[in-house]
Amino acid sequence: MAFTQLSAHLVELVAQDLYRTRQIIDSAPGVHVQIAGRQLINFSSNDYLGLANHPQVKHAFKAAVDDFGVGSGAAHLVCGHHRVHHELENDLAEFTGRERAVLFSTGFMANLGIMNALLTRKDCVFEDRLNHASLLDGGLASGARFKRYRHADSHDLKRLMLTPSTANTTLVVSDGVFSMDGDCAPLPQLVALTTHHQAWLMIDDAHGFGVLGEQGGGLVAQHGFSQQEVPILMATFGKALGTFGAFVAGSDALIETIIQRARSYIYTTALPPALAAATRVSLQLMINDSWRRQKLQALIAHFRQGAEQLGLSVAPSQSAIQPIMIGSNQRAVELSAALREQGFWVSAIRPPTVPTNTARLRVTFSALHELAEVEALLAALDNCRVNA
Ligand SMILES: *Cc1c(COP(=O)(O)O)cnc(C)c1O
Repeated sequence: MAFTQLSAHLVELVAQDLYRTRQIIDSAPGVHVQIAGRQLINFSSNDYLGLANHPQVKHAFKAAVDDFGVGSGAAHLVCGHHRVHHELENDLAEFTGRERAVLFSTGFMANLGIMNALLTRKDCVFEDRLNHASLLDGGLASGARFKRYRHADSHDLKRLMLTPSTANTTLVVSDGVFSMDGDCAPLPQLVALTTHHQAWLMIDDAHGFGVLGEQGGGLVAQHGFSQQEVPILMATFGKALGTFGAFVAGSDALIETIIQRARSYIYTTALPPALAAATRVSLQLMINDSWRRQKLQALIAHFRQGAEQLGLSVAPSQSAIQPIMIGSNQRAVELSAALREQGFWVSAIRPPTVPTNTARLRVTFSALHELAEVEALLAALDNCRVNA
């Protein structure tokens, strides 16, 4: 079979300004990255607290490699569950105030696995339309009846929940902080609805964990919701914690069910133990270094104020994700290129990652940015006439 059909599809993507290319990074992750021989100020990373290249995190990783090697050797249920994995799970359970936690090799696999373990065709899952792809795929793959509600719209969810149903269990699933918009789920309303209807609530706080809440506990901690109120709490290590992997926290019964049933947990190699060791250190830095969250919030406030003065269309977001809405794919790509010319790395986000006609510049901040760099970005945005 020839690949002519595939080639035709690729040509079509180019024509629609939907073709994506990978940029090769020649430096450590951080606010300054080396791409194609040029140093750029990076406003695209999810390393919100600047921990991905932190000396203590790197040291923990290297020391653990010396002690425990590189690969974990097997899946968790075979012989890949090392003591340091177990210790990280205990740290996370304690920090989130949940009975237990379990690690997953990636956030994508966690979301597939949670829903795979909890749902059958007799159940029902309601998801925010703008949920992360892994949550939508997890819901669809679970075989449960699948419905999406309007973004952050608890009234629309209520309407769905009031529709008579024969479902055994109902699960409501939402991002905590939405990955491409930066806004937050209406958590108190979601908790009220799920409590009232005896449904389960699952929050994926990949972008809130580390950033929101006094100690970085995320959106759920910011609101002070307990295990009773948010029974399924998931977050990842690849964003604010600067490492790699993910966890789910909740009741003993929840965690044990996931361990027994989640196929993306059972049938995959455990994370390298050194990653768990690095993540333990990163977690402590996240909790203790509140200056990182304070600095981040100061940078965000400065950016929002400046962007407003320039008349930029910034979304209502208090998180490290501050998208500037553009609309057309072509214009978003052109603006991203123009910013790069001026020394800034700001990625253009296009469909299908976001809905049609909502292409945007996804500006993200790190605690390691300087105020002067935010000023410089604002000047560059003005130069490019992003507001035109
Ligand atoms: C990044 C992300 C994931 C996936 O996590 P990985 O560890 O990168 O696979 C899941 N959910 C949300 C909301 C994310 O932003």
